[in-house]
Amino acid sequence: MRALPFSEAQARAIAARHPTPFYLYDEAGIRGAARALNAAFAWAPRFREYFAVKATPNPHILAILAEEGCGADCSSLPELLLAERAGLAGELLMLTSNDTPAEEFVAARRLGALINLDDLGHLGYLARHAGLPPFISFRHNPGPLREGNAIIGRPEEAKFGVTRAQLFEGYAAARDLGVARFGLHAMIVSNELDAASAVATARMLFALVAELSAALGIAFELVNLGGGIGIPYRPEDAPVDLGLVGAGVRGAYEAAFGGSGLPRPALAMECGRLITGPHGYLVAAVRHLKRTYRQYAGLDATMANLMRPALYGAYHHITVLGKEGAPTSELYDVTGSLCENNDKFAVARPLPALEVGDLLAIHDAGAHGHAMGFNYNGKLRSAELLLAADGRARLIRRAETIADYLATLEL
Ligand SMILES: *Cc1c(COP(=O)(O)O)cnc(C)c1O
Repeated sequence: MRALPFSEAQARAIAARHPTPFYLYDEAGIRGAARALNAAFAWAPRFREYFAVKATPNPHILAILAEEGCGADCSSLPELLLAERAGLAGELLMLTSNDTPAEEFVAARRLGALINLDDLGHLGYLARHAGLPPFISFRHNPGPLREGNAIIGRPEEAKFGVTRAQLFEGYAAARDLGVARFGLHAMIVSNELDAASAVATARMLFALVAELSAALGIAFELVNLGGGIGIPYRPEDAPVDLGLVGAGVRGAYEAAFGGSGLPRPALAMECGRLITGPHGYLVAAVRHLKRTYRQYAGLDATMANLMRPALYGAYHHITVLGKEGAPTSELYDVTGSLCENNDKFAVARPLPALEVGDLLAIHDAGAHGHAMGFNYNGKLRSAELLLAADGRARLIRRAETIADYLATLEL
């Protein structure tokens, strides 16, 4: 397991100003992850990572990633507005949405974003509500031809994207309406640790580009391989070898476009988890210890702060700050205070003997962590802080207050 980028003393100093629980993001780690992905695709013409905003929807994070050359992949109007807040506009923005409301298309057109359509019917709907854009991409769902994985499910059961036959129909319709610039997209897996998966997606998309170009007489300027590259949540997991992904995609790219006479499309990805997941921590304090049929450590955070363990049975590693070297002699269920029995960050987890007031860092919470927070049981969402390279922590989202919680009521 990676060493934490902060000490117990640093965490306690932050907690003195911003009470636990809080999220802490490691700026250097996030920049490093973006650089590693960019480096793996440095060979590709005009490679761009469009960070999936839903993973960590905070404009401060988006602005850091913009400095690393990343754009933003948005899937809602508020996400488009967050990205705009971060200074992103034009073709640094991508809209990859589904069941898309008109207002999203209108905002995407206003901002000049690249638009990725989830269905054929969206083409006419987009044109009617927001005007026909110069560029169109479709999201492909290969159905039974690909396997998918646990989080996203089997492609033929997934609501996303269009079939192979519909791609031919969709691009022909877009061409006939006057669209001149084309892209192709797929997002088939989620949290996938096998490098071969992204390569297989690339190979499939490159073959489709060749077929669609030949059949329809159109040229593709962009292939978007989607996100979904996994991270090692468990200590025994190995990170995806991005060098292997880059080299594999390069081989497929040269095989498809090398001597084909086709224009060489730009490549994009829209990873979220890979970039911020390992570099965000939920820091919480032990509030109560309880022993019944099992041993419980009750934290001041709940699944309303981090729902992945409850939602997916996901493993999140836990470090007890200041007890990194202590023997993990005890088994704890690490819980929150929701009236909901699956409000557990870990079940029967070997940890050092805990005391009330211990600070715990819950690892790999940087993506799809705070973002999935909710207010069930009247729980409030926590603050987010950014740990800069000089060791200082800066508040980038304050904690919700009870006034926030009550703000939407008609009183
Ligand atoms: C969620 C999502 C992503 C990001 O997924 P990660 O697993 O965080 O990489 C990318 N693209 C689309 C369309 C998504 O819905």
